[in-house]
Amino acid sequence: MISEFYTLKKWITESDNIVCITGRDFSKEAGFPDYRIMEEGFLDTYRYTPQEILKVSFLQRYPFFFYKFFRDRMLQPMLEAKPSFAHETLAKLEQAGKLKAILTVNIDGIHQEADSRNVLELRGSMMRNWCAKCEKFLDFSYIPDSPTPIAYCNVDMCGDFVRPAIVLGEEPYDLDLLAQGMELVKAADVLLVDGSSMDEFPVPNLLKAYQGHKLVLFNTPPLVFDKIAGLLIRDAGTFSEIFSQLELEL
Ligand SMILES: [Zn+2]
Repeated sequence: MISEFYTLKKWITESDNIVCITGRDFSKEAGFPDYRIMEEGFLDTYRYTPQEILKVSFLQRYPFFFYKFFRDRMLQPMLEAKPSFAHETLAKLEQAGKLKAILTVNIDGIHQEADSRNVLELRGSMMRNWCAKCEKFLDFSYIPDSPTPIAYCNVDMCGDFVRPAIVLGEEPYDLDLLAQGMELVKAADVLLVDGSSMDEFPVPNLLKAYQGHKLVLFNTPPLVFDKIAGLLIRDAGTFSEIFSQLELEL
């Protein structure tokens, strides 16, 4: 692994056009586990699977279960999460003019908490709320501070649900944002990819846009995209461990 780290450090040190794509493993390091994993007894409490719950039609039909899951499994862990060393490193790389953007399928706002600025949240963010009826973004505090388990919009007596501004099942992605992401990847010199993002839309499509020779895949399952990778980093620990071993001067 020493020669891989040497190359990775060299690429990062020499580049001023790095793009990083992050997924669930990145958030896990910050103490925000994957909310889609069901441990034993999950269905006794929540009755439905996360995939069933995180849909617009489910929110309309069973709002109580939607908000219960959202508060317990997503909102609370997100509030307790703290940016990892890896999150902080990406923020510093941006401040040093080296990292152009983070594209993430995570919805927890942890990159911004670490002071990253240019973060494309491809699946939206729990840090923002949305009322479909008013078609307005609403304060983050709406859901955590709601006096009732279900959060209702009180803009002009609207009364519709206030929901996190994330892409739920059955909803379209923000195509402008995807197009922006595609352009960044296309123009990137070094592309760092958290392997755990690669089974989530639209990451495989984004990767296809990359035209450089410095694609770094971290912890991907063998064979997937190996052929196009310039560097494969596997079994080398967490992102924080890897970044700390690089000893970047930031
Ligand atoms: Zn409303």
